[in-house]
Amino acid sequence: MSRSAHPAGPRHADVVPEGHYTAPPTDLNALDSKVWAQTVTRTPDGVVSVGGIDVKKLAEEFGTPAYFMDETDFRARARAWRTAFGEDADVFYAGKAFLSRAVVRWLHAEGLNLDVCSGGELTTALSAGMPADRIAFHGNNKSTEEITRAISSGVGRIVLDSFQEIVRVAHIAESLGKRQRVQIRVTVGVEAHTHEFIATAHEDQKFGIGLADGQAAEAVRRALALDGLELIGIHSHIGSQIFDMAGFEVAARRVVKLLAEIRDEHGVELPEIDLGGGLGIAYTSEDDPSEPHEIAKALHEIVTRECESAKLRTPRISVEPGRAIVGPTAFTLYEVGTIKLLDGLRTYVSVDGGMSDNIRTALYDAEYSVALVSRVSEAEPMLVRVVGKHCESGDIVVRDAFLPADLAPGDLIAVPATGAYCRSMASNYNHALRPPVVAVRDGEARVIVRRETEEDLLHLDVG
Ligand SMILES: *Cc1c(COP(=O)(O)O)cnc(C)c1O
Repeated sequence: MSRSAHPAGPRHADVVPEGHYTAPPTDLNALDSKVWAQTVTRTPDGVVSVGGIDVKKLAEEFGTPAYFMDETDFRARARAWRTAFGEDADVFYAGKAFLSRAVVRWLHAEGLNLDVCSGGELTTALSAGMPADRIAFHGNNKSTEEITRAISSGVGRIVLDSFQEIVRVAHIAESLGKRQRVQIRVTVGVEAHTHEFIATAHEDQKFGIGLADGQAAEAVRRALALDGLELIGIHSHIGSQIFDMAGFEVAARRVVKLLAEIRDEHGVELPEIDLGGGLGIAYTSEDDPSEPHEIAKALHEIVTRECESAKLRTPRISVEPGRAIVGPTAFTLYEVGTIKLLDGLRTYVSVDGGMSDNIRTALYDAEYSVALVSRVSEAEPMLVRVVGKHCESGDIVVRDAFLPADLAPGDLIAVPATGAYCRSMASNYNHALRPPVVAVRDGEARVIVRRETEEDLLHLDVG
């Protein structure tokens, strides 16, 4: 089970294995298709390949550490979401998971929309040709400059997150002579993480406007009264790395109840609801994510049923998957540098990256898998901790993993399912150079985000 959602921070002292790994896999050379991108396979000589190119060649050409993204897989996942939700729904890819101009073009070509939550993401989206009306602008503290730019470029919707923002966006829209389409983000009191959800979650969080205490109804009242705003719907996002649809069910019920109250009070039926993202992916073989068509069917049924019982027209649904599209499509390739056997305690395998290219393990106690990819091995499994090269003992990439006991410096190992929230959260800690993202497809590899150089570091440091 992935324990990805709760910040736990580095635990410096736990040198004894905790036991949340299972027995070693029966075949260390096998690649579980659940956690690896679609075109990843082992070539007859035992080297792993993606998009028809083996990782030794990729490492030679692009260096390590590096993220390799399976473009075929990315497009297939985007298309699967689009197809599953059909014409009466919209799929907004959550750009924060990973955004680059190439990705924007793929999304555009596959008919998806895009969520952004900063001026930087908006610029990236627009510069790669995403039509503004297919962009949604999010965030709990958008600057005046960001709001102005979003409205003047014509974004399809702004998701309002606070009372101040309702007024701010209305005011800026009016001053630009525009009427901005908006949704109000509500906090439904549902918190979902991985396999469980809490239906009576505390509304103690920075996002959204609370439903339970009537704040959301008041926000709707204010938004409807402002000329600069066209309120098109209600937005809810309940968590991340979710496997269980029960949380969405409760969220949808509460949002639909608000829609009914809005109809009763104001005589308007808002045409849209957005149920957010957060759908889980497999980081290890123990995770069992649902397919987009199963998720689409479940969400449509939930919303239709709730609307029927409230005698409302079924609104247009939108969803915002980030991780579920990009997460499984990439792996991080590392070279093993040192191996340290602490007798009776643990074996540390150090790689040439770490928390600067994957902060999720340190930040959320996230679980990952890892495999030796530059060769096959018949050696016994060895329980290891894969760590980075940073000056921090919490610099852990994979907390507990099995690798072959003959692992040696110079071997290439890869961590799958690093497409989401790894490059996008990457840092320059220790003046690390952030790794490139290389898209691989049909025997061709091309850099879509280049590796940082020491020159880049000196450019920022103006001396
Ligand atoms: C983060 C976020 C998403 C995407 O979450 P994933 O777990 O990547 O699917 C969608 N919508 C909103 C509002 C978010 O904050």
